[in-house]
Amino acid sequence: GNQHGELEIRDLSASYGPVVALNHVHITARRGRITAVLGANGAGKTTLLRTVSGLVRGSSGGVFLGGRDLTGLSAEAIAMAGVAHVPEGRGVITELTVEENLRLGELLGTARGDGAHDLDSVYEMFPALEQRRRREANSLSGGERQMLVIGRALLSAPEVLLLDEPSLGLAPRIVAQIFGLLRDLVDRDGVTVLLVEQNARSALSIADDGFVLNLGEVVAADEASTLAADDDLRHAYLGF
Ligand code: ATP
Repeated sequence: GNQHGELEIRDLSASYGPVVALNHVHITARRGRITAVLGANGAGKTTLLRTVSGLVRGSSGGVFLGGRDLTGLSAEAIAMAGVAHVPEGRGVITELTVEENLRLGELLGTARGDGAHDLDSVYEMFPALEQRRRREANSLSGGERQMLVIGRALLSAPEVLLLDEPSLGLAPRIVAQIFGLLRDLVDRDGVTVLLVEQNARSALSIADDGFVLNLGEVVAADEASTLAADDDLRHAYLGF
């Protein structure tokens, strides 16, 4: 089939010393779809994203983007290949202005060649950022910081967006707004999104596909609506 933009995580394992964080994980995230990865604290969600983006070295298996083998490449090379990682806890550079933060994403986008997004299109998507473009990023609210890191990632012209707990610490109304913008973006630009969330109910409401991790293993994989309708699964692993 057409593998363009498809992220394939194949038989991936990763450990921290004696602690096995990922145990032979298979996850495929398709282009133009939001794929949610759910699971409790310590399930291995953050490790999954850190292994995909080259920050943690896997002990077996591999990661492929559009059929290209990214396994073992440096974090810089994986970013250049089109994988943008938005880490948990936002990752804005608080001493820089909003616009300076966005310019950092633009630098990578320019290095990668033609991107779908320029500064104006990001401001159009997130008007709050334009109003605050000359302010230091540390003056932003939690929701605005989340918009800033997503906007910065978009300016790097990614094929794949890895989002780690974008809802963390945000009011439900702001979560709904950010998820709505994410949905629009995916539908319009055909980005591949891998969305890690503890907030399973919200994540499944916007995702197309879902994978449930428990103690480093995939225990369920299906369409998001099917997972959300599975009472046993919800009670056992999803907390709603
Ligand atoms: P959380 O939402 O709390 O981040 P998670 O699902 O993202 O949970 P991970 O952070 O990937 O899970 O952790 C998976 C396992 O690896 C846990 O047992 C955790 O204690 C362990 N772990 C994570 N980071 C490290 C580390 N730097 N050193 C040692 N063990 C770690």
